[in-house]
Amino acid sequence: MSTLEIKDLRVSIATDDGAKEILKGVDLTVRTGETHAIMGPNGSGKSTLAYAIAGHPKYEITSGSVTLDGQDLLDLAVDERARAGLFLAMQYPVEVPGVSMANFLRSAATAIRGEAPKLRTWVKEVKGAMADLDIDPDFAERSVNEGFSGGEKKRHEVLQLALLKPKFAILDETDSGLDVDALRVVSEGVNRYREGHDTGVLLITHYTRILQHIRPDRVHVFAGGRVVESGGPELADELERSGYVRFTGGKAEAA
Ligand code: ADP
Ligand code: MG
Ligand code: MG
Repeated sequence: MSTLEIKDLRVSIATDDGAKEILKGVDLTVRTGETHAIMGPNGSGKSTLAYAIAGHPKYEITSGSVTLDGQDLLDLAVDERARAGLFLAMQYPVEVPGVSMANFLRSAATAIRGEAPKLRTWVKEVKGAMADLDIDPDFAERSVNEGFSGGEKKRHEVLQLALLKPKFAILDETDSGLDVDALRVVSEGVNRYREGHDTGVLLITHYTRILQHIRPDRVHVFAGGRVVESGGPELADELERSGYVRFTGGKAEAA
């Protein structure tokens, strides 16, 4: 079993008016075998949490720690965090013109595994994972995310999950922009992965609908840059009924 532990994490970003504190002391522990949902209104800092853990340079960690089995992740470069077993599926995945999906996935797998996957088994692995996710085989020759629809980008993220096999996956709004069929395929992909691997999943979402497909063990309400309440799956049901108003002092969106 592995443990991802976030302690009193405070994060600022540089703005024209100086540094603005976005995360105001986040505490969260996720173990492999567990799925945690982070739910909160727009602007509450959910993506900031994901980027800060993954090591995006725009976010300045002003205090606190993030460790994976005791190893300080904040000291590591982005690629080292990936090698340590961390994976981030971004809310807005980047486009990489001129780099085919096939090459991108093989390079990523090579970087993470420390050696290039054997070509014959790799091709089989990729084809199998693509079929599982209803991804057209032509997709392999297209440039990464370039001109992909919202649903295609999300399928690509789950394809990476299946091939890169991280210990901890942070999925930032993997449900946004998906129609009902795509949501089912993507959710099934995540479920297949978590059933087949000892993995911890941090599922960030604004809506409760994905949680009907991917049942979380724990639900955390995120507001104003911190976790304000934690509970079991029933907490998501309450949010479905009543929204975030109870947690944001009457405002529908956090400032
Ligand atoms: P969420 O993912 O919960 O919607 P974000 O982490 O994207 O929230 O944003 C949290 C807060 O940080 C918001 O108030 C947002 O406006 C602010 N923020 C994020 N990125 C920037 C930026 N580059 N410049 C200024 N403010 C930002
Ligand atoms: Mg948002
Ligand atoms: Mg976000």
